[in-house]
Amino acid sequence: MALTKKQRELLKQKYDGKCAYCGCDLPERWHADHLEAVVRDPWGANKGRMQYPERHKIENMMPACPPCNISKHSMSLEGWRQWIAGHLNSLNNYHPIYRLAKAYGLVRETGIPVTFYFEKVSRPQPSPLAQKPNEQSIASAYESVERSEYASRDDA
Ligand SMILES: [Zn+2]
Repeated sequence: MALTKKQRELLKQKYDGKCAYCGCDLPERWHADHLEAVVRDPWGANKGRMQYPERHKIENMMPACPPCNISKHSMSLEGWRQWIAGHLNSLNNYHPIYRLAKAYGLVRETGIPVTFYFEKVSRPQPSPLAQKPNEQSIASAYESVERSEYASRDDA
């Protein structure tokens, strides 16, 4: 079940047209990623069948650039976070040009934790219960009470 054009446009705007993970501007051919992977069977008679079809819903979808979506594949968010963090070990252990670039100060490791874009910009969902009444709305509430009191006096 593919997303409708409208659902896809809404999903694209979930983080103002940016990849939910790295924060880049979404390219034209961006991917609709399942935050919790649906995990498709890779081969055999059930090739492409979702192991977790209940996760195929718009609430579980994130707009992603192709490199992030392909890198995340079917990993959980935390598993993917650890995997990305582990890239430094791979670079240091297996890539002499990386070590050389680091030795000459062209690359510097920061030691910062892997934080996804949507975690940096997470906006609390607007909830009427979470909103404190501002002074103006309190004042207008009093006004309407006063008006109704006058109105009932006039009626009496
Ligand atoms: Zn990305």
